[in-house]
Amino acid sequence: MSSAVATAVKNQAADTSQTGAPPALTDGFQLVIDALKLNGIENLYSVPGIPISDLLRLAQAEGLRVISFRHEQNAGNAAAIAGFLTKKPGICLTVSAPGFLNGLTALANATTNCFPMILISGSSEREIVDLQQGDYEEMDQLAIAKPLCKAAFRVLHAEDIGIAVARAIRAAVSGRPGGVYLDLPAKLFSQVVEIEAGRKSLVKVIDPAPAQIPAPSAVIRALDLLKGAKRPLIVFGKGAAYAQADDEIRALVEKSGLPFLQMSMAKGLLPDTHPQSAGAARSTVLKDADVVMLVGARLNWLLSHGKGKTWGEPGSKKFIQIDIEPREMDSNVEIVAPVVGDIGSCVSALLAGLGDKWQAPPADWINTINTKKEANISKMAPKLMSNASPMNFHGALGALRRVTAERQDAILVNEGANTLDLARGIIDMYQPRKRLDVGTWGVMGIGMGYAVAAAVETGKPVLAIEGDSAFGFSGMEVETICRYKLPVCVVIFNNSGIYRGTDVNPTGGDDPSPMVFAANSRYDKMMEAFGGVGVHVTNPDELYRAVSEAMDSGKPTLVNAVIDPAAGTESGNIGSLNPTSSVRKAAP
Ligand code: ADP
Ligand code: MG
Repeated sequence: MSSAVATAVKNQAADTSQTGAPPALTDGFQLVIDALKLNGIENLYSVPGIPISDLLRLAQAEGLRVISFRHEQNAGNAAAIAGFLTKKPGICLTVSAPGFLNGLTALANATTNCFPMILISGSSEREIVDLQQGDYEEMDQLAIAKPLCKAAFRVLHAEDIGIAVARAIRAAVSGRPGGVYLDLPAKLFSQVVEIEAGRKSLVKVIDPAPAQIPAPSAVIRALDLLKGAKRPLIVFGKGAAYAQADDEIRALVEKSGLPFLQMSMAKGLLPDTHPQSAGAARSTVLKDADVVMLVGARLNWLLSHGKGKTWGEPGSKKFIQIDIEPREMDSNVEIVAPVVGDIGSCVSALLAGLGDKWQAPPADWINTINTKKEANISKMAPKLMSNASPMNFHGALGALRRVTAERQDAILVNEGANTLDLARGIIDMYQPRKRLDVGTWGVMGIGMGYAVAAAVETGKPVLAIEGDSAFGFSGMEVETICRYKLPVCVVIFNNSGIYRGTDVNPTGGDDPSPMVFAANSRYDKMMEAFGGVGVHVTNPDELYRAVSEAMDSGKPTLVNAVIDPAAGTESGNIGSLNPTSSVRKAAP
């Protein structure tokens, strides 16, 4: 439907109060928009095309903000992180088959990370698809999406759009959040319904993510365990950041006096500089703690599955776990005190249960942690001062660390290998939900999608610290950043390769090693090509100045930061996951 048709439909609606007039009509396009708006959706992330172009035109005409990307995976990543930032499902719209498949990576990633998002894809005609008669972009999208998300629905009748959108929203945000797929065959959009019936078919979801109150006995069990602990520790994961129970979490930490660690995307829930943060003594506390309370963090590979060397002597730990998903308990090791509920409710209940006689954890444990922290921090400090040119990772991150300390409300997006691992440790976060990164899968390619949505959803300045390889997956979206004039500063850590830029072709042939990129690339020129600001820097002082200026101006900026091609280690700090040939040496 063209916008002109939309207007005609509406005008007809205005006319029909008189008796005898034909009933006023609406259609599928309009009902999708109305259903989303009714449920407080404000932004759509998309790549237009058949059959959703008119849907996007109409959405914009109806006051929704439509952000149009260059590739669906980036639009999908944007929607996913919008969900994480807002606790409302982020919406991604794609065309059929190839567009749908491109968006699916983001949908699966959202589900894996427990981010609420809805992928809405146009699809071909059911009758033809099911008989495999070769429709335009024929594909059984619903069947393909199902195993990769929390729920998948198809709508065949315009009267069902309202209920389908309601189901999709509830499925995305209730319980453990995740991705939902909504399949809308092209024919649905132009289906016509009487306006009044259409209006009545819409559903405003009431209390989409109801509180889930933990059982009092579970709370008492957890508190008893904490009380008896000699070396207690709290580990916050991104579920705790997502829950937006920031004040309750701070109160629990400060009243209990417990030391805490924050997983990557939980950093800043409490400032990394908080006196109770054990971040700089991470390996010590994981190894030596006797009682560990996980809050919105899974014992997956990122926490070495709760066992092995990282966790010290076998059997030396007792785990408490707070999570909304009951099946997360005992997923890797025994959970002695499971507390199932939403984090806000669970943390409030624990806080109330601390009572007035709560004793701070043993002083020798706190002293051990503080001694280790101080030693590690002073070991790191001189590296961060390095003013070497070409830069190493530490020198460059030392400069960016100063920028973010001066702009604590800025959002940091971070991906790469060494660029990710080192930035995670070096750059302190001060406020909740300010660090967005590769998440549970350690996936590359989230960078520009996350950066766009972070700017759109929060209006805050965004700093994206990107490995040169990682950036390549979504780099074309710098045009999107320029087109929407978003306050995003992208810094490319350009060491001319994957992990390093020094690998060579062992045959001496003309082709470069598969691990390197074109030498001396000028990524800054990409930004200039689209009207943004490009800066080329070769030392930490220049980097500091360029990024500070970009953050102050709010202008789309790309800083090409030249890093020594010899800096960086194979696979960053997850080299142990990368099988290498024992016969041939894979990396020099
Ligand atoms: P991280 O990678 O930071 O350790 P994970 O993604 O592994 O974090 O864990 C997040 C956990 O948080 C998931 O198990 C998820 O079920 C849980 N979660 C998400 N939202 C909530 C919530 N509102 N209340 C309780 N648990 C939640
Ligand atoms: Mg690199």
